[in-house]
Amino acid sequence: MIELTGVGKTYPGGVRALHDVNLRVGAGELVAIVGPSGSGKSTLLHLIGTLDRPSTGTVLIDGHDVAALSDREVSALRARRIGFVFQHFHLAEGLSARENVADGLLYAGVPRRERGRRAVAALERVGLGHRLDHRQAELSGGERQRVAVARAVVGEPALLLADEPTGNLDSVSGTEVLGILRELNAAGTTVAIITHDNEVASAAPRRIRMRDGRTEGDVS
Ligand code: ADP
Repeated sequence: MIELTGVGKTYPGGVRALHDVNLRVGAGELVAIVGPSGSGKSTLLHLIGTLDRPSTGTVLIDGHDVAALSDREVSALRARRIGFVFQHFHLAEGLSARENVADGLLYAGVPRRERGRRAVAALERVGLGHRLDHRQAELSGGERQRVAVARAVVGEPALLLADEPTGNLDSVSGTEVLGILRELNAAGTTVAIITHDNEVASAAPRRIRMRDGRTEGDVS
C-alpha cells in the first residue's frame, strides 16, 4: 500500500525534514508513527497522503508512483483511495454532521442524494446515528472527531492517515476514537497514525520511530 524508497524532503529555505527514508507498509496494516516534535512525522504523512511531493526518492501509493502522475491524477488518487483525520477535526462550523460527512464525497463524483445516504451509514458506523443533524458547536470533542473519522472513511478509502487523532480529546473519547480506527483496520483499511499517545502507540501492531528526519526503529 505504501512504499517509500530513498525519500528526502527539503523545504524551501533549506530545512531538511526527511533523509533517505525507506518504508514499506502492506495492505491491511495498522502502524503508529512516533517520535519527538520536529522529527519529520507530519512531513512523512503528507508525502504518503500525496499532499506534497518528495525532493528525492520515490513514493508509491497503492501501486502508483506519485511522481509519474499529473496533478489531476494525484488528486483523483487521493480522493478515491486516501482518507485523512487531523487533530483539530477540520469540520465546517455551519454544517450538520451529516453535511460534513457527505462533503467527504464531493470530489469522488457521487450524486448528492447518494452522498447523503452514505453519510448517514458512515455516521452510524462511528456510533453517531443519533447526531445526524447536530452542528459542530452542539457536539463534544469526541463526537466531532468521530464525525471527522466518518468523513474520512465515507468514500471507503484503502488508506486512512491520522495526525494526532486523539491529541485534543479526553482519555475516554480518545479510547473510543482509537476503537473506531481499530475496527476500520480490522475491516481491511490500512491505517497510519501519528501519535504521542501511548495508548494509541501500544495498540498498533507496528510502530515506526522517527528521529531527525530518519526512521530510527521499526518495531512489530
Ligand atoms: P513533526 O511532525 O515530527 O513535528 P514535521 O514534519 O512537522 O515534524 O517537521 C520536520 C521539520 O521540517 C521541522 O524542522 C519543521 O520545522 C520543518 N518544516 C515542516 N514543515 C515545513 C514547511 N512547510 N516549511 C519549512 N519547514 C518546515
